[in-house]
Amino acid sequence: MEKHRIVTKPKVYLVGRQVVDQEAMNAFLADEGMTFTTDSSVPAEVLAETAGRVCYMSFGKGRKTNQDYLDRIISSKHGSVLEHTIWNFLFTNISRSVTHELIRHRAGFGYSQLSQRYVDESDAKYCMPPLIRETPALHDQWTKAVTAAQQAYEDLAASLENVVAEKHPELAGTDRRKLVRQTARSLLPNACETKIFVTANGRALRHFVELRGSSHADAEIRELAVDVAKIMQHEAPNVFHDVAVIQENGIEIVQIEYSKV
Ligand SMILES: Cc1cc2nc3c(=O)[nH]c(=O)nc-3n(C[C@H](O)[C@H](O)[C@H](O)COP(=O)(O)OP(=O)(O)OC[C@H]3O[C@@H](n4cnc5c(N)ncnc54)[C@H](O)[C@@H]3O)c2cc1C
Repeated sequence: MEKHRIVTKPKVYLVGRQVVDQEAMNAFLADEGMTFTTDSSVPAEVLAETAGRVCYMSFGKGRKTNQDYLDRIISSKHGSVLEHTIWNFLFTNISRSVTHELIRHRAGFGYSQLSQRYVDESDAKYCMPPLIRETPALHDQWTKAVTAAQQAYEDLAASLENVVAEKHPELAGTDRRKLVRQTARSLLPNACETKIFVTANGRALRHFVELRGSSHADAEIRELAVDVAKIMQHEAPNVFHDVAVIQENGIEIVQIEYSKV
């Protein structure tokens, strides 16, 4: 298999984030006879603070910094307020085994994943797991195995073309190819690379990086969780201020002060 088809690190693209409609916000405040300013320039943080303040209609008095405000939300586990923060990601260079684990995170996540029924996997890439990467003596063994699986997929897809044409002459192009690919994909290994669009709120992301960034998590998804944690520390420091990436026994893991808010 060509070298460029073996991938070793997840890619995380943060492709979407919220905006504040200041005009609408001002209209609300004027209608309620209140004024409100905050010191964060991160829309998600401003929106979360606004949502929290609506609970008590406390926009004026006892004003704190946005960080103080969200600290209080997080430390008192009033985590539903963080559900008003939303980000959109694209994850690539991750394996089907990683996405199988990722999509177990249900609350506060939305997913759209590359379909192996519609997309031809003849040019698929394969994700080399961390332990194989660290063990050059096993590179050949691993690469041979995924190459054989890939060849078997292509061979079976070719055979299935004839079978489907004979058994289902009524099927046109796309439907015929879909039946071929959905059957041939049964031979693709967990290491097959995939792409997934993920939308998540801050509360859900905190839970994800906590569970999947832990030393108990699978090494591949841990790499992804560590990348997400690092991005979010910069993206929304007041929502992720208690999330740290530390070294433990030679690996990076996520540590969080306030568990599952
Ligand atoms: C180290 C590790 C090992 C694992 N091993 C296995 C394994 O061997 N087999 C396996 O099947 N899975 C395994 N998992 C997956 C795990 O069981 C969860 O499915 C996954 O981590 C998602 O967690 P969650 O349900 O808390 O997240 P989410 O689905 O995002 O839910 C977040 C939180 O919302 C609440 N919630 C969500 N849905 C409901 C509901 N229906 N009812 C009540 N409360 C709800 C819960 O408080 C939950 O913690 C493992 C996970 C880890 C981190």
